[in-house]
Amino acid sequence: MSSPHIYITTTIPYVNARPHLGFALELVQADVLARYHRHRGDQVRFQTGTDDNSLKNVLAAEVAGLPVQEFVDRNAAAFTALGGPLGLSIDDVIRTSRDPRHRPGLERLWRACARAGDLYRRHYEGLYCVGCEQFYAPAELRGGRCPEHGTVPEQVAEENWFFRLSRYTDQLHDVIGSGQLRIEPAERRNEVLGFISGGLEDFSISRSTDRAHGWGIPVPRDPGQVIYVWWDALGNYITALGFGTDAADYQQWWSGSRRRIHLVGKGVLRFHAVYWPAMLLSAGQPLPTDILVHDYLTVGGQKISKSSGTTIDPAALASTYGTDAVRWWLLREVPRVGDADFTIERLTARANDELANGLGNLVQRVISMIHRYRGGYPPGITHFAPGSEELSAACHRAPDLIQAALARFDFRSGTAAVWAIADAANRYINHIQPWQLAKSERGGGADAAHQLDSVLATLIQAIRALGDNLTPFLPGAAEHISQQCAAISGRLPKPHPLFERIAS
Ligand SMILES: [Zn+2]
Repeated sequence: MSSPHIYITTTIPYVNARPHLGFALELVQADVLARYHRHRGDQVRFQTGTDDNSLKNVLAAEVAGLPVQEFVDRNAAAFTALGGPLGLSIDDVIRTSRDPRHRPGLERLWRACARAGDLYRRHYEGLYCVGCEQFYAPAELRGGRCPEHGTVPEQVAEENWFFRLSRYTDQLHDVIGSGQLRIEPAERRNEVLGFISGGLEDFSISRSTDRAHGWGIPVPRDPGQVIYVWWDALGNYITALGFGTDAADYQQWWSGSRRRIHLVGKGVLRFHAVYWPAMLLSAGQPLPTDILVHDYLTVGGQKISKSSGTTIDPAALASTYGTDAVRWWLLREVPRVGDADFTIERLTARANDELANGLGNLVQRVISMIHRYRGGYPPGITHFAPGSEELSAACHRAPDLIQAALARFDFRSGTAAVWAIADAANRYINHIQPWQLAKSERGGGADAAHQLDSVLATLIQAIRALGDNLTPFLPGAAEHISQQCAAISGRLPKPHPLFERIAS
């Protein structure tokens, strides 16, 4: 029998500033997968963390006039505090500057690659973007500037440790091409395969302690160099599982687990789909099974950046508009491929149209009708009424549609399957008009009484299905629906509004 263990990670962002909405997207996507698999009975470990050892953090701390550790601690706290506002079910957080598991694990990874003959020292000169923390070949620049940051990279010349990436070119092409290491969506896999086919060059994995401003993890037995921050950061995925410190934990969650899933943004794909698997191959460790890549968010048509004032604080957003509204927008509007543009108007429209008017109103109507027409006692009928075929089909299809959608990392299709239940239920009510049946019943119609029982029973089943399928996406609202449907001594609780309308 295959292992029930599934390990799900986000990237670990550097903490030179407070978190923005783009990272909230990744966290919420990872949370949905974690909750979905737990709901199905898998053992899940959902991990996030912070990349404390980046040179960018050091430079930002210098600008802020603070000691690096203090600055890093302060910003890291803002990242780890997102769990509450975003409703996240995080199991573990690793902070690379503080976590006692990290350095011993990283050193072990280094030594394993050294033993494989893949590390060597050489003089290097190149163009380095501090924003990316990577060297660029002149051909990769756009008008002499970093394609990600639009800044002019600095010329760096020093002696560094290198990793023999070139040795793994064919092997990487095979594992990705064959799907042994799955990259979704296919557009991104093809991009990686294209990059690998272009030939892989060895890359620098250390820098002088001077250039690192004395910050970072020293290279084992070479204290004049610190480990390159990407090597350091990528290592978090296994050091947090006890690689080098807790063999049983590591065995359970990495080498023995059924799936090892990384969620990443498109800008860091090369590190995760090329460098990281090569490091693991060199160290003789299993590869991740899935790399799920999301695109970027823009805000009001602008790339998210501090300088253009487009930073949106996800915690503040959730406190103003509600966790459900923020999660729903991220899951319902962001496409699988292509950037999505965030505006407050779009968030508000989605929340009001679909959560308040669609889902919330539906639940309220159904519970109210059961109170008005049946004193709060739902009829004990367990099949769907004749004439409710569209609604029953939406309920029955939802689990398979959600499974298929999440398997291909398509949160929009997943939430669409949930929305289809609410939409069909609202149309069913408007078509069948239970209030007319209640009128006929009061006039003495036995058929009408039986029909109304059958309609109310159909509707309560539909909103139970709605709540159940909504669980991974909006756990708070799903819990509320399940409480509304849970009879106490046969009677349902009085209706409570599920969502407040957002004033626009
Ligand atoms: Zn850059």
